[in-house]
Amino acid sequence: MTIASGRELLPQSLLVLTEDEQLFRDNIRKFAEESVRPLVKEMDEHGMMDHSLVEQFHQLGLMGIEIPEEYGGGAGTFFEAILAVEELSRVDPSVGVLVDVQNTLVNNALIRWGNEEQRKKYLPKMAAEWVGSYALSEAGSGSDAFALQTRAEDKGDHWVLNGQKLWITNGKESNLFIIITTVDPGAGYKGITAFIVEKGFPGFSVGKKEDKLGIRASSTTELILDDCKVPKENLLGEVGKGYKVAIETLNEGRIGIAAQMLGLAQGAWEAAVKYAQEREQFGQPLSQFQAIAFQLAQMATEITAVRLMVYNVARMKDAGIPFLKEAAMAKLYSSQVAERIASQAVEIFGGYGFSKDYPVEKFFRDSKIGSIYEGTSNMQLMTIAKLCLGGK
Ligand SMILES: Cc1cc2nc3c(=O)[nH]c(=O)nc-3n(C[C@H](O)[C@H](O)[C@H](O)COP(=O)(O)OP(=O)(O)OC[C@H]3O[C@@H](n4cnc5c(N)ncnc54)[C@H](O)[C@@H]3O)c2cc1C
Repeated sequence: MTIASGRELLPQSLLVLTEDEQLFRDNIRKFAEESVRPLVKEMDEHGMMDHSLVEQFHQLGLMGIEIPEEYGGGAGTFFEAILAVEELSRVDPSVGVLVDVQNTLVNNALIRWGNEEQRKKYLPKMAAEWVGSYALSEAGSGSDAFALQTRAEDKGDHWVLNGQKLWITNGKESNLFIIITTVDPGAGYKGITAFIVEKGFPGFSVGKKEDKLGIRASSTTELILDDCKVPKENLLGEVGKGYKVAIETLNEGRIGIAAQMLGLAQGAWEAAVKYAQEREQFGQPLSQFQAIAFQLAQMATEITAVRLMVYNVARMKDAGIPFLKEAAMAKLYSSQVAERIASQAVEIFGGYGFSKDYPVEKFFRDSKIGSIYEGTSNMQLMTIAKLCLGGK
C-alpha cells in the first residue's frame, strides 16, 4: 500500500456528513423553518405543543428514526436521530426534546429491551402515530434514582403498579410510558423493574402539568398509578434488571440532550449574528465593533467544540465503541455552552433581547434545563471523575 492510499483511509473531519445525512438534515431544517418557526412563540406563550406538529413528525419519519424497517421505522442511525434533535432545537428546543425522548429513550428501550412480541406490537405504533414517555423520576428520587418508591406487585396473571412519577416529558401527548418501578423497595437497585404502560390501562392517569421557566411547549407532568393493572406480557426486560434498562437508556439519551443544547446554542448564535449585522449604533452595525465581533467569534468557537463532542460520541455509539465518559462530557459541556451563549445573545440584542419580541429571551430560558434533566451537571461530573480518576 502506498503512503497516499494509506492517507485516503484516514478519517475525514467529524463535521463531514454523508450525502444521506446532509439530505436528512436539510429536510429537517426546511421543515423546522417552514412549519415549526411560525408556531414557536404561541406554543411558548400557551405552554402547549401544537397537535398538528406531532402528526407531521410522524409523517416525516421523525418519530421512529432508528426503528427497523420491518416495524415501519426509518432504519436510520443514532447519529441521524441526533442530527434531527439538533436541527429541531435550533428553532425550538421544546420540539427537539419531544422527538429526542421518543427516539433516544422510548424507542431505544423498546428496540433494545423489548421481546419480539413487544417490538411487533409497539414499534409500528411509535413510528406511525404514538408518542412515548420515559418515567424514572419521582418526588423523592431524582439524582438518587434508585431510591424510587413506585411499587410493582406480581398478581399471578398480571402486575399491579402503585405510585407517582414526577417531571415526565411528553406526559400530555404520550400513549405509551416506560415506567421504572421496584418489586422490593428494600432491595435497592436489584428490585428495579421496568414496564410498558399504555395510557388506557386501568388505574393509570396523567396528573398535574408543570408550569415551567423554559421549554414551555414541552409538557412535563405527573403520572399517577393507582392499582394500575398491567398485563404480564408488558414487563420490559427481566424482573430486578430494570436498573439496566434505566441506566443504559439514559446513557444514550443524554447524547440527545447534548444535541438539544447544541441546536439551541446554534439558534441563539445565528439570531445574535443577524441582529449584530443589522442594528446600528454610533453610525455602524454592532458587528463592526471589535468587542461584539470577538464575542460572536468566541461563541462560534465554543459551538464548534460542542458539535465535535456531540458528533464524536454519536458516531462512537453507532460504531459500538464504549462512550459513557464522552456522553457525560458532551452533556455537561453542551449545557454550559448553551447557557453562556444564550445569555450573551440576550446582551447583544440589548434591551430588545430582554423582550419576548425576539427569540433569544426564549433560548435563554430554555437553556437552563440542559444542566438539570437526564442527570444534573454534578451527576455528569461524578461519572466523568470516576472514569478519569478510576476511583483513586
Ligand atoms: C422539564 C423537566 C423534564 C424532565 N423530564 C423527565 C422525564 O421525562 N423522565 C424522568 O424520569 N425525569 C424527568 N425529569 C426529572 C429530572 O431528570 C430530575 O429533575 C433530575 O434528575 C434531578 O433530580 P431532582 O430534580 O430530584 O434534583 P436532586 O436530585 O434533588 O438534586 C438537586 C441538586 O443537588 C445536586 N445533587 C444531588 N445529589 C448530589 C450528589 N451526590 N453530589 C453532588 N450534588 C448532588 C444536584 O446536582 C442538583 O444540583 C425532568 C425534569 C424537568 C425539570
